[in-house]
Amino acid sequence: QLERKVILRGEGISLAFRGVQALDRVDFEIREGEILGLVGPNGSGKSTLINVMSGFYKPDGGRLLLDGENIARAPAHHIAQLGIARTFQIPRPFPRLTVLENVMVAAMFGGASMRQTMSIVKAREMLAFVGLAERAQALPSQLNLHQRKFLELARVLASDARIVMLDEVLAGLTPAEITSAIAMVRRIHGGTRTIVFVEHNMRAVIELTDRLIVLNQGRLIAEGAPREVMDDPAVVRAYLGA
Ligand code: ADP
Ligand code: MG
Repeated sequence: QLERKVILRGEGISLAFRGVQALDRVDFEIREGEILGLVGPNGSGKSTLINVMSGFYKPDGGRLLLDGENIARAPAHHIAQLGIARTFQIPRPFPRLTVLENVMVAAMFGGASMRQTMSIVKAREMLAFVGLAERAQALPSQLNLHQRKFLELARVLASDARIVMLDEVLAGLTPAEITSAIAMVRRIHGGTRTIVFVEHNMRAVIELTDRLIVLNQGRLIAEGAPREVMDDPAVVRAYLGA
């Protein structure tokens, strides 16, 4: 298989919170068009890394190179305009905007930079795709967990981002909802879009990802082909908490 071009590179990314070293000199690459699995036990630093890559947290040290430009200190809205979109492990829609308006905002201020009139068309299309067309005028607080997660997916679809980071979108869903969410992740990928997939559901990870990186206690402990990485003794130990 041909090596894909590196689209985002992290070099020595570190971040501590009051004594907890959430990320400890993490080096990684994200390659164009791949579905990269980002896995590791609870508290290993996965969401923190997503927060750093999307500009929500600033690392204490290290560089984050997007097409060679260091974006480690860039504000989140700038990173969104560069075409990096993320979902939140706990969905955080704009509470006073309707479901439709939440998706419109993603189309207007994400990588797509659409005008408002076009964003309505795009938002309706994406809500229909995720099965939320009938909830377009609802407020996010009127949605259940599964609907709020699918709203997050509609938002990243509408943003037309080059790199989409999905933080545990399957958690809390029923088996049927998981099947439809996996199909949506494939649709978001579309064969070409770069995806970072944070997930605990290993069946979904094996089914979807091209490559895995594994964090444990803030350190990158393994990377490579999904099945090989899952069998790596260091990874097995990390999951057993040994
Ligand atoms: P994961 O997503 O892999 O479960 P996190 O990235 O959420 O792990 O957390 C990694 C570590 O950093 C944990 O010890 C967590 O408690 C800590 N942490 C994450 N975010 C914060 C924060 N905003 N303030 C303080 N500690 C945090
Ligand atoms: Mg997390």
